[in-house]
Amino acid sequence: MDPGGSNYQDIGDSRSAYTDYGIALQSAEFTNSPFRKSTAVIDGKHGAGSNSAVHEMLKCAACMNLMYPPIYQCPNGHALCEYCKSKVLVCPICCHEPGNIRCLALEKIAESLELPCRYQFYGCQDIFPYHTRLQHEQNCRFRPYNCPYAESECAVTGDIHKLVAHLKDHHKVDMHDGCVFKHRYDIPNPQEVDNAAWMLRVFNCFDHQFCLHFEAFNLGLAPVYIAFIRFMGDDDDATRFRYSLEVGGFGRKLTWQGVPRSIHFTHKTVRDSLDGLIIHRSMALFFSGGDMKELKLQLVGRIWPEPL
Ligand SMILES: [Zn+2]
Ligand SMILES: [Zn+2]
Ligand SMILES: [Zn+2]
Ligand SMILES: [Zn+2]
Repeated sequence: MDPGGSNYQDIGDSRSAYTDYGIALQSAEFTNSPFRKSTAVIDGKHGAGSNSAVHEMLKCAACMNLMYPPIYQCPNGHALCEYCKSKVLVCPICCHEPGNIRCLALEKIAESLELPCRYQFYGCQDIFPYHTRLQHEQNCRFRPYNCPYAESECAVTGDIHKLVAHLKDHHKVDMHDGCVFKHRYDIPNPQEVDNAAWMLRVFNCFDHQFCLHFEAFNLGLAPVYIAFIRFMGDDDDATRFRYSLEVGGFGRKLTWQGVPRSIHFTHKTVRDSLDGLIIHRSMALFFSGGDMKELKLQLVGRIWPEPL
């Protein structure tokens, strides 16, 4: 298991950094949050001028995104980000070829700045040096969540309140109050299901929401099912809870006790780290009774807060 590990992206990959900022700058939130502090000091004064002037200076002439070192300029001094320098044939302002000229002065200014986290709007109060801000934002606990619905690649993002409404209205997910549950899975032909994910329920309990997932996949060559719970909130809050899942039949029983994972982790991440109740298909069919052709599993579960 590698919580958080797969989300890490080296900030040295400046191309992805620019792309990342392309998204950031589309939201008014960044433009509205001026640089808190400039440490670029000349003669004891803030030589870089007002915050918005610094902001303007660090915008790439081509893509208008904030630039991170290395920063380039055309022969006439128009600044370009590394990505645009390699993409544009001519400077968008003066139409000269961009060449290969670094703009060390701007790089120094960029390196001296401290900025609020881009998720300030969502509640993050942290301030970072220009460079480490990107790295923080990839793991900021206030970053918006992706829609946790598992059956489709849904692009909706937002806070928990918005996503709960979205799950209900758009995906028609069954909402359930309470922290004890029983759920029956009936899959007529399990042999045909090699890779499928179902998110059937959201549980409202302890003033939070929990998503129950059930997935079929191949673990090596063995067809298995996994059931697990994800927490609609950040990972710190998720670790305050425990859950148990149980399936059985004919005197046999499989139980799992786990810690719900935040929906900051995709259902695939949770599945691939096997962080849930694993049921081999042959055992699942045995629990289902009948002729081993139909899956009829009853999953019993419970969620509770872990005392501190
Ligand atoms: Zn650019
Ligand atoms: Zn130019
Ligand atoms: Zn943050
Ligand atoms: Zn969705």
